[in-house]
Amino acid sequence: MSETERTIVPSYADPEVEAALEAVRAVRSVTDAADPRPRYFIRTFGCQQNEADSERLAGLCSAMGYEKTDVPGEADLILVNTCAVREHAEKKALSVIGQYKHVKEEKPSAVIGVGGCMVSQPARAEKLKKSYPYVSFTFDTGAIAAVPSLVLGAIRGGKRTFLLSDEWKIAEGVPIRRESRHMAWLSIMYGCDNYCSYCIVPYVRGRERSRSVEAILDEAKALIEDGTRDITLLGQNVNSYRGRNGEDIAELMHRICALPGDFQLRFMTSHPKDASDRLIEAMATEEKIVKHFHLPIQSGSDRILKRMNRKYDRAAYLERIDRLREAVPDVSVTSDVIVGFPGETEEDFEDTLSVMEKVSYDMVFSFIYSPRAGTPAASFPDQIPHEVAAGRMERLLALGDAVSKERNDRFLGRVLRVLTEGVSKQDGEMLTGRGAPVRPIHFRGNPSLIGQFVQVRITGNDTFCLRGELV
Ligand code: SF4
Repeated sequence: MSETERTIVPSYADPEVEAALEAVRAVRSVTDAADPRPRYFIRTFGCQQNEADSERLAGLCSAMGYEKTDVPGEADLILVNTCAVREHAEKKALSVIGQYKHVKEEKPSAVIGVGGCMVSQPARAEKLKKSYPYVSFTFDTGAIAAVPSLVLGAIRGGKRTFLLSDEWKIAEGVPIRRESRHMAWLSIMYGCDNYCSYCIVPYVRGRERSRSVEAILDEAKALIEDGTRDITLLGQNVNSYRGRNGEDIAELMHRICALPGDFQLRFMTSHPKDASDRLIEAMATEEKIVKHFHLPIQSGSDRILKRMNRKYDRAAYLERIDRLREAVPDVSVTSDVIVGFPGETEEDFEDTLSVMEKVSYDMVFSFIYSPRAGTPAASFPDQIPHEVAAGRMERLLALGDAVSKERNDRFLGRVLRVLTEGVSKQDGEMLTGRGAPVRPIHFRGNPSLIGQFVQVRITGNDTFCLRGELV
């Protein structure tokens, strides 16, 4: 294991995970006898939730006795964790799975499994079954704990399996192998009940379900004791979290912040309709909560928001931003925007641009609308031609960069508390870290500072990053 990675095995496991651990032990008896020890390779597409799921897959692979490799051709077990949010991500995943055919030809004993949102759609799982005969199994987003028995079946030469859960549960107790030593995703809820008209998530990740406060606190405590300095609470709709006794995300965050240790806490992704006063208040009062709120607006036009089934209008969204800025004046605000949603007129698009200027976002993540089969918006008659959407996207990006640059100027000259994340990818002489600004912060320093909080004076704003010097 590299110095930056660590595996955490929870102290409690649900009965179905206990059953999965039986299969883990059976695979382990095979891998322990192999010389050299077999290796696994995981390729992940998509969002942070998928990255977190891949860390659970990696935890299971380690427990089954596989060693990690970064080279698919060396692997005995290849797992592909797919995304379905945009068509491009599906095409990319299928192309990558196509390339692994050669691995199987070179090494017929290699096992290839495909999971994630793409294969949680029956039609896609069927396509894998028919057109990719070298894929041994698929598993949907609710079936990660079943992977050891799928691997066991495959190495024993059993039938190919294409698993689609009929219910989505929470599986407590899966070991997690995390890529970073100092930062961690911590999933607190799964699924979504919102059914935005463009989004595939409720169909591929199921209804909302929250983990218990106790399980989350146990995991947070273990992480902090293991040296984690930055925890991001994750959920498709994280601020609709509901514990067994009605605890909301504000209460959960207060309880995590009360844990001893020097760490910072973040959360994503929030829905504007669930951005409660209590959550804003928690951010205002808890020092450990990073002053950054990601609040996707998607469109600035009420007409389009209604068609998107977003359940808020522009005025309600702006009211939440005002409330947030009143309570946390220096808060960094970021957003997601969809460009070219069916029926979007020039006027609707200009409403989006005007919201961006009004809110003055620290950063905007923008996407051209991608129709997803099975969602209502995919069959709306007034789809926008790609050239029109692409032209609007260019204008939006230009405005987003200008607004972000201006907004981030407020940090110039200030001394900020920054968690040193690692050596900068652009310049090996520089360190990179993060704090309240959304942009990464680059500064000169000794790599021994990695994983520590430091004080950095901000000296430059390069739009996509900030520059600074250690104080
Ligand atoms: S809130 Fe809407 S966009 Fe977000 S995951 Fe749920 S359905 Fe998708």
